[in-house]
Amino acid sequence: MEVVTKNSQETQKLGQRIGAKLRPKKILALCGDLGTGKTTFLQGLAKGLGIKKRIISPTFVFLKEYPLKKGIFYHLDLYRLEKSQDALGLGLKEILNDNQGIVVIEWAEKIKKFLPSEKTDIYFYYLNEKERKIVIKER
Ligand code: ADP
Ligand code: MG
Repeated sequence: MEVVTKNSQETQKLGQRIGAKLRPKKILALCGDLGTGKTTFLQGLAKGLGIKKRIISPTFVFLKEYPLKKGIFYHLDLYRLEKSQDALGLGLKEILNDNQGIVVIEWAEKIKKFLPSEKTDIYFYYLNEKERKIVIKER
């Protein structure tokens, strides 16, 4: 699926619609440059999942966990990750194997080799100041 969103609210809404349908044991790999809308999308997604807290991308924190009614929502932001290997120190393996987990990874391209093929890849592209192209590849 491919969509062009015309402002950040549209990107949030898209995330919200997808979040509302998510079930446990789901991995979403978000790829794309800085400012393409990954965190914006995630804020909508978290809302769709029923998370009340506002999702931010903390500069020096790689991993944030949010409790769900059932299971845990994991938000990884690997922008500052230098070596893919370092992700293992964050407990990546355990997180990916959490059967109740919903895992969303920003800058997933950095740890491609550790990710299972069973995942949804979402690519973000900057078109112009207000528009982003978002490409969703299930599995
Ligand atoms: P990333 O997490 O990919 O670095 P962010 O979501 O943090 O990106 O930032 C995206 C920036 O682009 C925000 O400042 C947002 O307001 C702006 N923006 C403009 N148009 C869009 C759009 N269509 N979708 C998402 N963000 C947009
Ligand atoms: Mg971000």
